[in-house]
Amino acid sequence: MFALLFKAFAILLALGLAYVSIKRAVLGSQPKRTEAPSPPSPKPTETIEADDLVRCPSCGTYRPAGQSCSTPGCPARPT
Ligand SMILES: [Zn+2]
Repeated sequence: MFALLFKAFAILLALGLAYVSIKRAVLGSQPKRTEAPSPPSPKPTETIEADDLVRCPSCGTYRPAGQSCSTPGCPARPT
């Protein structure tokens, strides 16, 4: 009786190890897309580097070259 229980336990243990190894092999072959960190997106305010845009030294916003700053509250804005 005891030998039969031990045999059944050994079979279950072997099946468990086989299941874990197969599952690990299947999961290892697939790329983890959900856990992969996405590359950080660049800040949109720093990517605007057009030739006809200048950055306001007072408030940091971009405005067309040759025009005064139109940002409300900016010290460089003409009143
Ligand atoms: Zn400004």
